[in-house]
Amino acid sequence: MSAETADMAADKTEKVIRIAGSITVDELATALGLSVTALIGELFKNGIVATINQRLDFETAEIMIGELGIEGVRLERKNTATQTSEQRRELSDHAVSRPPVVAVMGHVDHGKTSLLDNLLHKKTVETEAGGITQHISAYQLEHDGRKITFLDTPGHEAFAAIRQHGAMLTDIVVIVVAADDGVKPQTVEAIKFAQGANAKIIVAINKIDREGADVPRTMADLSAHGLQPEEWGGDIMMIPVSAKTGENLEKLLDSILLIADVEELKADVDIPAEGLVIESHMEVGKGSVVNLLVTGGELKVGEFITAGGSYGKVRTMVDFRGKPKGKAGPSTPVTITGFKELPNFGDRFLEQKDEKTARKAALLNAQGAADEAASANVTSTDLLRMMNAEDNSKVFNVIIKGDVLGSVTSVVDSLKMIDTKGEVTLNIVATGVGDITENDVYMAAGDGNTVIYGFNVGVPTNIAKLAARDGVAIRNYRVIYELLDDARNSMEKLLGEEIVETDTGEMKVMGVFRVTKTELIAGGQMLSGRLTPGVLARVKHGKEVLGEAEVESVQKERIDAKELIENEIGGLAMRTEKKINLTVGDRLEFFTREKRQRKLGE
Ligand code: GDP
Repeated sequence: MSAETADMAADKTEKVIRIAGSITVDELATALGLSVTALIGELFKNGIVATINQRLDFETAEIMIGELGIEGVRLERKNTATQTSEQRRELSDHAVSRPPVVAVMGHVDHGKTSLLDNLLHKKTVETEAGGITQHISAYQLEHDGRKITFLDTPGHEAFAAIRQHGAMLTDIVVIVVAADDGVKPQTVEAIKFAQGANAKIIVAINKIDREGADVPRTMADLSAHGLQPEEWGGDIMMIPVSAKTGENLEKLLDSILLIADVEELKADVDIPAEGLVIESHMEVGKGSVVNLLVTGGELKVGEFITAGGSYGKVRTMVDFRGKPKGKAGPSTPVTITGFKELPNFGDRFLEQKDEKTARKAALLNAQGAADEAASANVTSTDLLRMMNAEDNSKVFNVIIKGDVLGSVTSVVDSLKMIDTKGEVTLNIVATGVGDITENDVYMAAGDGNTVIYGFNVGVPTNIAKLAARDGVAIRNYRVIYELLDDARNSMEKLLGEEIVETDTGEMKVMGVFRVTKTELIAGGQMLSGRLTPGVLARVKHGKEVLGEAEVESVQKERIDAKELIENEIGGLAMRTEKKINLTVGDRLEFFTREKRQRKLGE
């Protein structure tokens, strides 16, 4: 199935080559209009000995096109049976309106959770005893008699993961910015994400009840990042709100509905149900518990569905409050049980005719995914490693445990996004849902340098002790960005140190007083910068470097001085390792030399 040939869709300006999983050297050469030998030659230059039938994965093909300097060609992933997620299906004439799907994003502590909570409590009636205690990944509320679906996710990375799977999940992204803090790194990330996902943006300028709140300044800040407020002639609605007092939250909801109207969001209901897996975990007594967002058709209890390589019969279905639901239409988030195995976060689910068809489709999907993974003999990781001539690439081994499958996927996907320019290879030894176990520790200990990352999980005391005994690092986080920072730092440590030289000043030699094998005493005038005892000096005769010396002391008017600055005249004593024949008119270039931890991507 993965042995598909590239097909081309001619475009006036750009040629698109669609690749399902991998492509052979022969197919890629043909698609690029190149001779096979030319492509094999280029691969060879990059250290890969390939044959005509060798398969290259998507990323490798992309890198090769870049290396060859070919322009006007774009690679696209062709969906296979695994991901039947065509961007958005063509709608029929009788498609009906559907609620908007909204994601709330922004910098940590700017009030995303408070905003979602406030809306949830304001707008939904908690009928169930105990209310909402579960990890909710999505909910729906009503405003003006119309529904709005809100998504809550472990982080932007989760959305990125879904996007990788080719699906468009959110119609509108509400970017929350605290009016007393302004635009921060994750705000910028959220803006980029929303733009990349083609979602409409609304900004909620939050915490306006706070003393330091400055709405115009926040708007200016946003405007500098490409979001122009409507008030200033731009096209982005920016609503000053307070998640604490509830001020203007109605207005925020009005704006969401306004955008939904303009966008004319629709879906077909008379088609087999389809949608996305937005959360999944195992529960004692229930088996697989899976949160789905229906995007088309109507899902009903008793129907058979597949998602990736998993299938099942919808045994129970409840809404986000835990209230039983017989059927769920487009934009509705539901929680179901009945999948035989846990599907993956971001998998597309599809209704199937009967059990037999469902089983067969799941099997095909699983097979397709396995084929795809196995079919590429040259992967981009190999390529990057080979391109890195000295192959000094380091390997960072990790085991990842998360509370739910969604968070594991998020962590994995975000770790993969750390750009190490091929210098550090991330090796995911294992992943899993649940607390850190003895087995994880043994696995890590066996490897020597494996780090166990936990995300929202527990570390039982005996396991922590075991890890301490075996020298295994367990790092447990509740905030994904902190986990990522730690991983980035650890990867940087693998890069080791580098030597950095910094120029500090320059002197013209006007007198040479003593030259021995180990000592050099001279005087001169500072041309620039400054001279302090302890720095190093490069001795230059014209362009030629005569040698290096270490400045031991500095004198000004024959008295020891702490420094000489520009234009000042003074003397200096230097220690050398060999005799340097310094003469009047030579230059001394002063500099410091430090060891510094290398940074990723430098
Ligand atoms: P998140 O990290 O973006 O989900 O932020 P939270 O919702 O957890 O909010 C971070 C902190 O800001 C909490 O202490 C909230 O109580 C507080 N907070 C959130 N919204 C507001 C608001 O509108 N006004 C004030 N005064 N505090 C707020």
